[in-house]
Amino acid sequence: MSDTKRYPVPAAFRQRALMDAEMYQRWYQQSINDPATFWGDRAQELLQWRSPWQSVCDWDFSTGDARWFDGATLNVAENCIDRHLAQRGDKAAIIWEGDDPAESKTITYRQLHDEVGRLANLLRARGIGKGDRVCIYMPMIPEAAYAMLACARIGAVHSVVFGGFSPEALKDRIQNAEACALITADEGVRGGRKVPLKANADRALSQCPSVHSCIVVQRTGGQVAWQDGRDFWYHEQVPQQPVDCPAESMDAEDPLFILYTSGSTGKPKGVLHTTAGYLLGASLTHRYVFDCQDDDVYWCTADVGWVTGHSYIVYGPLANGATTVMFEGVPTYPDASRVWQVVDKHQVTIFYTAPTAIRALMGAGDQFVTGTSRASLRLLGSVGEPINPEAWEWYYRVVGEQRCPIVDTWWQTENGSILIAPIPGAVDTKPGSATLPLFGVVPAIVDDQGKELEGAVSGNLVIKQSWPSQIRSIYGDHQRMYDTYFSTYPGTYFTGDGARRDEDGYYWITGRVDDVLNISGHRMGTAEVESALVLHPKVAEAAVVGYPHDVKGQGIYAFVDLMDGEQPSQALIDELKALVTKEIGAIARPDQLQFAPSLPKTRSGKIMRRILRKIANNEIDTLGDTSTLADPSVVDVLIAARLNT
Ligand code: ATP
Ligand code: MG
Repeated sequence: MSDTKRYPVPAAFRQRALMDAEMYQRWYQQSINDPATFWGDRAQELLQWRSPWQSVCDWDFSTGDARWFDGATLNVAENCIDRHLAQRGDKAAIIWEGDDPAESKTITYRQLHDEVGRLANLLRARGIGKGDRVCIYMPMIPEAAYAMLACARIGAVHSVVFGGFSPEALKDRIQNAEACALITADEGVRGGRKVPLKANADRALSQCPSVHSCIVVQRTGGQVAWQDGRDFWYHEQVPQQPVDCPAESMDAEDPLFILYTSGSTGKPKGVLHTTAGYLLGASLTHRYVFDCQDDDVYWCTADVGWVTGHSYIVYGPLANGATTVMFEGVPTYPDASRVWQVVDKHQVTIFYTAPTAIRALMGAGDQFVTGTSRASLRLLGSVGEPINPEAWEWYYRVVGEQRCPIVDTWWQTENGSILIAPIPGAVDTKPGSATLPLFGVVPAIVDDQGKELEGAVSGNLVIKQSWPSQIRSIYGDHQRMYDTYFSTYPGTYFTGDGARRDEDGYYWITGRVDDVLNISGHRMGTAEVESALVLHPKVAEAAVVGYPHDVKGQGIYAFVDLMDGEQPSQALIDELKALVTKEIGAIARPDQLQFAPSLPKTRSGKIMRRILRKIANNEIDTLGDTSTLADPSVVDVLIAARLNT
């Protein structure tokens, strides 16, 4: 497919950007050649330390173990709040936008300090301290951020579980982390609908004897059951606590949080991140990938239940003293213009979302965008899945009016912070490419035997050196970290993703290695075929998987979701197959094409191809773990209409 399209940095953006091409190159080279000096300097610039480190880094990828800033002490909450008070006490730390467009509020850094201090004192009063695990199961309300920061303040390790998860999934995660407390709300509100968080929590907690305290935020005032001695109302307890709460001195390598991966490929893993390296990775990348400056209003639409919410709603922006927008609702409620209305309302300058949202908004029609101003926007970002070039172009032209660079950011829960993305004032973009590695990141492409491939090639994406915010362990199962990431291609971190590198050294994520297609011996990433299908103006979204084929070994089975108002037809099937042939070649022409009213996705919005593969293979009795699926009913619809019976 043509990937020669290249967009230079828009001139107006370049003029005020924090980093230009020369600086990016200089920093990158130093970060690779002399990581100790590079990261030592960044650590001094970006973070506040209580006591210095003995060594900057010490790592070994034959085991996967890494230590950064060993011997140093600091506190994450102090870095995200206290040190900003002198200069930015009255600056908005969080702008909260409710699900209901009439509801919003601003929390200054001073208010954030007081809220977090009180909650931290309540946790201490409940006997919770350094090293204890606290589960957070919350809607997108400021108290979710207060809870994370309160844990960080007292050295407790938080495990945020996405508020859309079931009681069963919550129970598994609480048990796995052996949490002693849960912070939740009576109910959440999303898209006008209520989510029974406390009722879910009650069901989970009935099987979690480790939890002695459940702190409940009153969000809706809905009826909830109560267990005296265990359950406490946030609004009754927190205001009684003093605001001053001395922050715990944390070792650089003390755990900060556990976070379970989104479960696209199988059973979620409890990824453990530690204190200093994580915070440095989050703050550095937030500052330079988003070019975030003091007057910016920055909005990441992720949920705090995902790593993107951790690093790019809470820790990165607050460590940098930025204003971060927190949105309780969904992009299409009350209608598909909502996010652009919010951009105008709060004069958002930097907007970061996921391809699933971009495709949904594109599918709804341009009129929802063009009816808003968006004049405040200067940078757009994408994360979570490969972004199809068609969706990228739409984001660039219709949303950003060709004025805003797009940063396509590739990274994983295990990485802690973005690893591959364009520095927006420095790197030209290409639609669909995450472009170039960030500081300290040494990517490589290897074949299935682990041999490193040079030049313009595709294969398995690995990382060759440690970076500060890398995974430190899988909670309770350190061996699983080694087995999952460091055993496949010894001496490297294996991402599980496939990638192509082009003649300019740009990286194109082609999808998960487990999903790779092998057609008559030709290996192909799912993203390439899907992007060809999405080029068609009637197609909103597409997912392709392989299925056994007598002649070719594997055939291509495509699931296609049409734009709102478009009708399926045989003529359209023919057109779509022809389009793929034209864009990629006959080898990639789908053998089966099924129209899908919607695609099965994880709760973080990623297409779950392993389920689609089961449907295409007609193995519907062995769908595997579907607990992380957002809407299981989608699967039944697809099964009923499957072609390969
Ligand atoms: P699990 O590991 O449990 O299967 P997951 O991989 O979906 O879940 P995350 O850590 O949330 O959990 O997602 C990381 C993955 O998302 C990456 O490995 C990659 O496949 C995909 N991804 C994230 N950002 C991008 C991007 N910008 N371009 C392409 N793919 C991306
Ligand atoms: Mg993963």
